[in-house]
Amino acid sequence: DFARALTRAAGGIELTREDIITLLQALPGEEETKLFELADRVRQENFGDEVHLRGIIEFSNYCRNDCHYCGLRRSNKEIQRYRIPLEEIVDTAKYAAELGYGTIVLQAGEDPYYSGEELAEMIRKVKESGNFAVTVCVGERSRKDYELMKEAGADRYLLKHETADPALFAKLRPGTSLAERIKRLQWLREIGFQVGSGNMVGLPGQTVETLADDILLLKELDVEMAGIGPFIPHDQTPLRDCSKGDLKQTLKTLAVARLVLPQTHLPATTAIGTLHPEGRKMALACGANVIMPNLSPAGYRQMYQIYPEKAGSKENADESHEKITSLVKEVGRHISKGRGDSPKEQFKN
Ligand code: SAM
Ligand code: SF4
Repeated sequence: DFARALTRAAGGIELTREDIITLLQALPGEEETKLFELADRVRQENFGDEVHLRGIIEFSNYCRNDCHYCGLRRSNKEIQRYRIPLEEIVDTAKYAAELGYGTIVLQAGEDPYYSGEELAEMIRKVKESGNFAVTVCVGERSRKDYELMKEAGADRYLLKHETADPALFAKLRPGTSLAERIKRLQWLREIGFQVGSGNMVGLPGQTVETLADDILLLKELDVEMAGIGPFIPHDQTPLRDCSKGDLKQTLKTLAVARLVLPQTHLPATTAIGTLHPEGRKMALACGANVIMPNLSPAGYRQMYQIYPEKAGSKENADESHEKITSLVKEVGRHISKGRGDSPKEQFKN
């Protein structure tokens, strides 16, 4: 039962799939409170009160894929597509350096316009603009491309597994498979990246067992970071009429992930901040230790609509930065000055 599973977690005993399923179903009131408190304590013991900021630059919204959940899918003819010129990306990175960012995340749709060499060039230029780690998040590419990016100085790669249910994955991501995704996560590991993955909460057809498998997959992959956020339906996608992910279920998934992955960086996602105005604060209070402020130049933000009303889409980089630094202060934590690498020995700088 719940009390037994929580005691096992508190004692550092490895949780079984059944324990995880039980904890994910914590009831409102005392059970949820206890789960969130324990996750917060585990976060505190492993990472202290530091919150790491990762500044995201969304440099292209072109995508060759047709994921049923995402507004950037290729069948969406209603959005205006853009690619930010390299010079403007570099300027944004320089600005991030002035603001003291320790990590830049270069994110885009799966855009074949960029060759591996061009992505490598972008990474080199960004690395030269400041003293930060670079995380790349551009989807599924060839092993050679990943190698080029690593040689160019990229430190981390983010490739969410999205859902650990292979049938649901294949249905929601036509033409792709969970096995191919996992193969790439293994390549990225072999190449030497700090690896990030993660999943959405509340996808149609997902069960609490699927969420347990998501967490177990993250553990098996031994990821250095995991983005766990709610699914938010987008009007211009086939999932427009589905319900959005539940706030409490997302927080519970995050909290249980913290118990299973004590040393993994877990962001308070933008999606949870979109679901609820206090969502990111709540996430910071139940296991999260990272926030990813949007640094994309203001003019592009409205066009990077992976889901509607994305938090920060009406701000500029300054405003997003201000808002997040005050949010961190309000919860009594402080912003880290370092790069926020994985605490694992092999990634220590
Ligand atoms: N194209 C790359 C990829 O798919 O890995 C990177 C960019 S993609 C926009 C980044 C993330 O957005 C995905 O990993 C997915 O989890 C998330 N996402 C897409 N549509 C979403 C939605 N409707 N609600 C919540 N998250 C969504
Ligand atoms: Fe493209 Fe990524 Fe959106 Fe899928 S989730 S449509 S790969 S941008």
